[in-house]
Amino acid sequence: MNKKELQAALAIAHLYPNKGLGQHFLVHEAVALRIASLDGFAEGAKVLEIGPGLGALTGYLIAKGACITAVEIDAGLCHFLEKKYGDAIEIHHADFLKIQLPDEFSVCVSNLPYYCASEILFKIAAHYSMPRVYVMVQKEMASRIEALPGSKQYGAMTISLRLYFTVQRLFDIERQAFYPEPDVTSSFLLLERRQNMFTEQFIRTFHVVVKSAFWGRRKPIANALARSPHCAMGKEKAHTLCSEVGVDPASRAEELSFDDYIRLTHAFLEEAR
Ligand code: SAM
Repeated sequence: MNKKELQAALAIAHLYPNKGLGQHFLVHEAVALRIASLDGFAEGAKVLEIGPGLGALTGYLIAKGACITAVEIDAGLCHFLEKKYGDAIEIHHADFLKIQLPDEFSVCVSNLPYYCASEILFKIAAHYSMPRVYVMVQKEMASRIEALPGSKQYGAMTISLRLYFTVQRLFDIERQAFYPEPDVTSSFLLLERRQNMFTEQFIRTFHVVVKSAFWGRRKPIANALARSPHCAMGKEKAHTLCSEVGVDPASRAEELSFDDYIRLTHAFLEEAR
């Protein structure tokens, strides 16, 4: 659907873009086609689409023969999609953050609503296991997701997501590709799930370590771990732990690599035994 067709479809269905729900609909058909031509949407692929909106992408995926399960929070949009696609897709009228579908998808795709993009990403990461996730996010958020140690954008979100995925920015999309236009450029990312099998306990502890480190972002890492309310392990133990795994106790959270955090978590768990 181009912008004129989308505006007409909205008017006929008496729908209005709800910015509170992050509704910026894709109206650049070449972008939708480009996404649908990516790996993973072949005949029979089990696709989870979060927030299909008016189906900018959905139609192209159906045409490729993919089996689409869609979760859309807006009742009006669900009604529109049911009328348009009938049995060709399975639609759940729900808040994605509040439902759990069977974990049976090979790929997930979403033009994420900006207001809850990171919550949705972490839900996909922790509650589903599809190997491939395609998401459109604000460019600034993409930069945080793919940031390198030492950069301003590198933070708890960067490292926490890396526990689940490797990240690749595929392309950027100008704001004119959406209606209504958002304030910023978007980026389209491919997240590929890592094959490592961390235990629940490891994952929980990893998040505690990362949260604690960035709680004291400007503090030396040993002080942050020692004093953070998330773990508060005491100064001596924090220093020993860092030194044991080759992390300089005086370095800052943003200077540590993903592997540093993995080693710190192993040491933390070992110490707790
Ligand atoms: N995929 C469509 C497109 O590209 O044109 C719409 C994308 S729009 C940025 C985000 C969509 O997510 C909207 O349709 C919105 O109603 C829906 N949405 C917002 N919050 C949601 C939630 N918590 N669960 C499911 N869908 C949600």
